[in-house]
Amino acid sequence: MSRFWSPIVDTLRPYTPGEQPREGGLIKLNTNENPYGPSPLALEAIRNETGNGLRLYPDPEATELRAAIAASLGLKADHIHAGNGSDEILAQAFLAFFCGKRPVVFPDITYSFYKTYCALYAVEAETVPLDETFRCDPQDYRRPCGGVLIANPNAPTGIALPLEGVEEILRQNPDAVVLVDEAYVDFGAESAAVLVPRYDNLLVVQTFSKSRSLAGLRVGFAIGQPQLIEALRRVKDSFNSYPLDRLALAGAKAAWQDRDWFERTRQRVMVDRDRTAEGLKAQGFDVLPSAANFLFAAHEGFAAERLWKGLREQGILVRHFSQDRIRNRLRISVGTTAECDALLAATGTLLNK
Ligand code: PMP
Repeated sequence: MSRFWSPIVDTLRPYTPGEQPREGGLIKLNTNENPYGPSPLALEAIRNETGNGLRLYPDPEATELRAAIAASLGLKADHIHAGNGSDEILAQAFLAFFCGKRPVVFPDITYSFYKTYCALYAVEAETVPLDETFRCDPQDYRRPCGGVLIANPNAPTGIALPLEGVEEILRQNPDAVVLVDEAYVDFGAESAAVLVPRYDNLLVVQTFSKSRSLAGLRVGFAIGQPQLIEALRRVKDSFNSYPLDRLALAGAKAAWQDRDWFERTRQRVMVDRDRTAEGLKAQGFDVLPSAANFLFAAHEGFAAERLWKGLREQGILVRHFSQDRIRNRLRISVGTTAECDALLAATGTLLNK
């Protein structure tokens, strides 16, 4: 606490991002990045943008990117909002839909940034325990609330909620915005985007960081009916009219249009995920069924923190959370085939010590 701080700064609970090491040579399986890199067409589009045109502000409306996304979803550009990563869109959504209302409901085990936004906006958080298999029961979300937040697939569990479950939550809460955070949806879950025309309380949020391997470019987007999108635009234009720079707009549009690269790379990630899960199970790990680009694993005979340290010593970074129900699990991002093999070899060595 400093005498210069505003009262709210003292109450914040900042999110702790996974380590981005400076030293090279590490196998980085700790922040759910995609090992295959962006579409070559996206890289070319970004290079083509690095000219004198950068003296001009970018398009504040992200018109072309929004139109491209809308067209492939069978929607209009006014159903789409673009932002500086999906984290920024989540922050905008809190201000647009949850601030000053009843508590926002989300699972006890989920993306920890939701609690950070609750503190930032002084919104009360009401957490609902996942069942003992880490599954979400839509019935638990039938309660008066100011909004619902569901990550689907959930993080860090990787477990997906079927579309019927999402729809049940939407039907139970017609007067609250249900935000479905689909950061990992392209690795095996069903997107709720198809429900947007039927539910005026649905906001789907997706990102270019994972399935399009552009975490460094910072682009996310939301899909919803125009009234919700308009609220997000009002928030954006009250804070920063240009959250997406020219490089991001050009790169994201080209990445969106390169379906071939998207399909090929996400398939490779899914194949290696399933193979790595089997490998870990064969070593005695309990691995949750993942529809994401990471695995959430525990080993009865070996504390997760010890494994985490042991892997670090072997040059492999994975993520460990100290929260109660999950402190004996590790979240392991799916890397290249060779990186997954290196992980399995390293866990094998540690378990045999
Ligand atoms: N939602 C979830 C569930 C995530 O895991 C992440 C990545 N940390 C994000 C949103 C944010 O992703 P980005 O801001 O890179 O789009």
